[in-house]
Parts: sequence; structure tokens; C-alpha cells
Amino acid sequence: MVNMTLLRIGHPLASPGQQRTILEENSEFPAFSDLLSECGTPVLTARGIDTLQVNVGRVCNQTCGHCHVDAGPDRKESMTIEVAEACLDFLARANVRTLDITGGAPEMNPYFRLLVSRAHRQGRKVIDRCNLTILEAPGYEDLADFLAEHHVEIVASLPCYLEENVNKQRGDRVFQRSVAALQRLNRLGYGMPGSQLPLSLVYNPVGPFLPPDQQRLEADYRRVLRTNHGIEFTSLFTITNMPISRFLVDLMRQEQYDVYLRKLVEAFNPATVEGLMCRAMLSVDWQGYLYDCDFNQMLDLKLTTSRPNILHLDDETLQQLLHRSIITGRHCFGCTAGSGSSCQGSLTSSGSSSTGDV
Ligand code: SF4
Ligand code: SF4
Repeated sequence: MVNMTLLRIGHPLASPGQQRTILEENSEFPAFSDLLSECGTPVLTARGIDTLQVNVGRVCNQTCGHCHVDAGPDRKESMTIEVAEACLDFLARANVRTLDITGGAPEMNPYFRLLVSRAHRQGRKVIDRCNLTILEAPGYEDLADFLAEHHVEIVASLPCYLEENVNKQRGDRVFQRSVAALQRLNRLGYGMPGSQLPLSLVYNPVGPFLPPDQQRLEADYRRVLRTNHGIEFTSLFTITNMPISRFLVDLMRQEQYDVYLRKLVEAFNPATVEGLMCRAMLSVDWQGYLYDCDFNQMLDLKLTTSRPNILHLDDETLQQLLHRSIITGRHCFGCTAGSGSSCQGSLTSSGSSSTGDV
């Protein structure tokens, strides 16, 4: 299957404003803030910043059908060295423990290796959100070795252990190339029992469903990948698809948008609110603008502080960021449904859905 970015085909929902309108206009569904109030948290606030998640741009070697970034080979947005340097300064100034690098395919940014090596030298934990196929792409032959040398934790997308489902969502032969990349990472020690090189896999549903129970699915992944391909990994993260960008378009095309949003709202789990990832992270885009999370970034919900760009942060703004009020909307139901969802997988072990499609 060949997908194209919404931007390239001139789709109206390439615009974050149009996506926000669809999400916020439908009065059939409650506002996210109403359900927060009902569970005694009228305003979601940050509790410091453990993680700086840096989205280095929209350029990617794939064009997956569900992509919330609308990334692809035709996208040009890519972080400059000035913004990359400002991110590294921020890690030191705010004493942030983890640098989490995402995209697009983050490794395609020219300053990806600078970010990794300098953050590693600063003693930070570095996470690479990797689509796996980039490790097998021409020109990136030494990438896996570079990641291992810098003790980078790899969080890799593999939405299913079955070839057909992966290729349907992510493109032709993506499964085969992902398997080759995982085997290469295993040979370097990634994901092997007792290894200091963590390799986590990310599952996200291939359709309008909530993820199944994370623990049970991890056991299935482990059994099938080990038996069929000799692959080992550290852990599996289940992530709920956000009803934004290309997944939103897909839902609307299949007339499943209302059905899916209702599913998310009805599965609202108050126990997830405490651990929502936005409460301990800050997200920065390729131009340096700041957001509460990558989803807010894609909806262009910038922070409303007086200096909302990492290039111009003063100490006063930095202090405000630590305890800021978080901007929420109906898309946030994607984080609170069932067991909850974050960049590190589910948030609770209870309340999970069993309607997954694996
Ligand atoms: S690999 Fe990731 S960033 Fe690239 S198109 Fe697929 S989902 Fe989007
Ligand atoms: S989408 Fe999720 S992580 Fe982002 S602000 Fe909403 S609840 Fe927080």
C-alpha cells in the first residue's frame, strides 16, 4: 500500500486548526475538562520536567497510514543546529534527566548524532524513537553501531508480529525490513536478556480499537518473534491511536470517527490521570516552539507562556514551565482510555480493553 502525506495531497485536514475544529465542535461528546473535573482534577498541571521530547522534524522514509505527525519523504521541516544546541542547553539548565528524540524518522535529521553524543556526554538518558527500517536504509549502515556506542535506548515501532498487519499499516516490505533491523540490533546486544541496551517495541492498533492488555500482548509478541525470527526485546509498549492527522482522516473515510471517539470517552479511566505523560515532560518542535506533548504539538497547541520558544527562554519562564497548566482537548481521551496510553505504553494495569486486533 502506498500512502501519501495529507500535506502533499492538499487535504484540508493537513491543517492543525481544521483537526481541532472537528475534535472540539462535536457537542455530542463531553469536553475532556468536564471529565477531569468529575474526578477532582479540574486543571491538569505539570510536576516538573523529567523528559525533554524533541521532535526534530517531519521527514521520514515511511508514510504510515496512521501517522499522527503526517510525516513522509516529501516533508521538509527539520531542526536546525541552533535549535538543537538550545535543546542541549535546556537539558543542563533545567537538569532534565532524559532526552527523548522523535520525528519523522529522527535519525534523518543532520544534527541527530550531535544531539545524541552531546546529551550522552552530559550523562543524560537518550531515547531514539526509531521506525526500524531506517537502520536498513542506504547511508545508515553504521547507525545501529552508533546508537549502541552511545547507550541509546531504542523504542521501535512494530504494530504487530504478523507481516500482513504491519505492511498494511506501514507500507510494503516494512515487516521484513523491521525483522532484519531487529536481528541486527540483537547482534549488538540490544534487547538481549541481562543487556544494558534496552530495546522496546511499540504496538498500536491497526484499526479503530483500543489496545489489548499490554502484559498479555507482550507475551504473545515474545513467543511469536522468538519462534519465527529468533528476535529478543526488552518490553512492549501498547499505545492508543490519537484521533488526529492521518488516523483521523482514515476514521472519517471509514465513517468511524464518532464510533472511535465514543469508545475513547466511554473508556475514560480516572486512574490514568495521575500518570499522564504531559505532567512530567516538555515537547519541543523543529523550530523550537514548546508544547505539553507531541500530540499538542501536532495540533499546534503551543504553550501560552510569554516566551514559548526554547531559543528565547529566560529563567523566569523556565520556572513557570515546571508547574504550568496543561492545555487539553478531546484528543486527550486517547491518553485516558482503558489502561491509558503514553510514550512508555499503558499507564495502569487495570481497565484495559480486550478489543485489540492482534
Ligand atoms: S515511521 Fe513513524 S513518523 Fe514515519 S510515517 Fe510511520 S508513524 Fe509516521
Ligand atoms: S494528549 Fe495526552 S499527553 Fe497530551 S496533553 Fe492531552 S493528556 Fe496530556
